[in-house]
Amino acid sequence: MDNQCIIQFFEWNLPPDALLWQRAEAQARNLRNLGFDIIWLPPAYKGARGVRDAGYGVYDLYDLGEFDQKGGVPTKYGTREEYLKAIKSLQKAGLSVLVDIVLNHRMGADETEKVQAVKDNPENREQEVGGERQIEAWTKYTFPGRKGKYSDFVWDWTCFTGIDWDEKKEEGGVFQFEGKDWSEEVAEEKGNFDYLMGADVDMNNEKVVKELVRWGKWYLDTTGADGFRLDALKHIEYSFYEKWLDAARKKADEDLFAMGEYWSGDVEELLGYLDNCGRRMSLFDVALHMHFRDASQSGGGYGMQGLFADTLVERDTLHAVTFVDNHDTQPGQALESWVEEWFKPLAYAAILLRRDGLPCVFYADLYGLRSDGVPPVPGLRRMLAARKLCAYGEQHDYFDHEHVVGWTREGDKDHEHSGCAVLMTDKDAGEKTMYVGKQQAGQAFRDITRREWDPVVIGEDGNGTFKVPGGGVSVYVRPEMYREIGVNWE
Ligand code: CA
Repeated sequence: MDNQCIIQFFEWNLPPDALLWQRAEAQARNLRNLGFDIIWLPPAYKGARGVRDAGYGVYDLYDLGEFDQKGGVPTKYGTREEYLKAIKSLQKAGLSVLVDIVLNHRMGADETEKVQAVKDNPENREQEVGGERQIEAWTKYTFPGRKGKYSDFVWDWTCFTGIDWDEKKEEGGVFQFEGKDWSEEVAEEKGNFDYLMGADVDMNNEKVVKELVRWGKWYLDTTGADGFRLDALKHIEYSFYEKWLDAARKKADEDLFAMGEYWSGDVEELLGYLDNCGRRMSLFDVALHMHFRDASQSGGGYGMQGLFADTLVERDTLHAVTFVDNHDTQPGQALESWVEEWFKPLAYAAILLRRDGLPCVFYADLYGLRSDGVPPVPGLRRMLAARKLCAYGEQHDYFDHEHVVGWTREGDKDHEHSGCAVLMTDKDAGEKTMYVGKQQAGQAFRDITRREWDPVVIGEDGNGTFKVPGGGVSVYVRPEMYREIGVNWE
């Protein structure tokens, strides 16, 4: 399929109405028509906060909204039946479905256990503060509402490396259990970043790994998913996902797609993880996201010629999933690094209309962030259409100026009337002469976002002089494409 594109079909502040699966099903055809090929659905298993849990506070991996646990049957997004039905409908409409896999931690245990533990300095987990003592930890998971259906595995403290709460003293902190070590195969931040939140799952425990591999096969069998989005890789030993992914691919399909969340803006760290996991997956291009965020906050002082320098899409194109924002970066969230609104159209042009990278569009950018009164990104739907219809062929880059940068696509024979020119600036209005190909000579390219602008007629030499308004982006395409892209003023 040409110019594939992912939709992240949720944001953090969706209402807890248990209706997302139904909405996804109802939108299946629409999403296809908008230009999406792949849909990423949020975690579907019961979280500690029940219907109010966005899914990342995992309680029971086998409860996809089927059992009366944590205050009710459905998850925040609906019931198991609705989930499975939505996946089928989405696939029938031609979308591949990626499911969200959250294995680093558990929350909302059913019982406490007495465990010997030491307290670590939260800012340096290599450093103990205070001696060993007995704590009362929420580590026993018996899932009384499920009664052993699908798996009779009971989680106890031996399945975890540490936890953030001593019930006995009602004291928070980072507690490391007796005889357990934080994994060495994780990020080095905070001394050792194995521990993120909740009860940290011990992936060095054979029986835990076996159970999670078994669950993975069950989950693929149950859902028929086409691939994965893997959560919190920075905090999980890389060798775990080697085993887990290999087992899943053996079970389902050698080419099962996987994209991982390794939250680092340092491209070397992202490349290091790809090396460590044997490039078994793609990673979100967090480095590029941080560039977008920085550029959006720099008030016209960013240096746009370096927008793609030291990003994953530049350094390892084939393993980069590009994105602008997500449920973690949105306002109020843990990794808040929201790309300011004025810059979003520029950022989306940069991920949707270039040759490299697999772009992932955020729900809140497509539909608006209702909780914060943020409207949809203007022009995003047209850019999605332009990606599908026009952004093909040879690419010519013009990252040659501090503020005004752009690129062109020459178009190709497989896509009639394709080709485009993109120009953007983080500061003042500007213009640039760019080459779109001699085969485009005489064509009157127009900006799909501005009706008042005159067309740019491509010269015999294949060049056109395109312009862009201050702090904006222009996307020029051939006249034949205006209507198809949703430009109905012709
Ligand atoms: Ca961990």
